[in-house]
Amino acid sequence: MLSHCLNPSCTAQFRFLHEGRIFKIERTTASLDDSNPQRLVEHYWLCGPCSLALKVVVENGVVTTQPIHPETAAPETAKENPASVR
Ligand SMILES: [Zn+2]
Repeated sequence: MLSHCLNPSCTAQFRFLHEGRIFKIERTTASLDDSNPQRLVEHYWLCGPCSLALKVVVENGVVTTQPIHPETAAPETAKENPASVR
């Protein structure tokens, strides 16, 4: 954990706490006999550029990244509006 950016297509190494963003993920691990579930706290890191576009989520028990704004990921939606016309 925390040795490099969670984005698999990014190679940034974790060096300083003030760079990027740290995500705290809490999970409950259920043991086989269900008698003593344990709370597990894990920390994940996204580098500066990745933390602006991605968030850390748990999907089907797997920690992964998702775009923060999926709708803005498509560049086609960014159409220029004409400036104010008199
Ligand atoms: Zn990154």
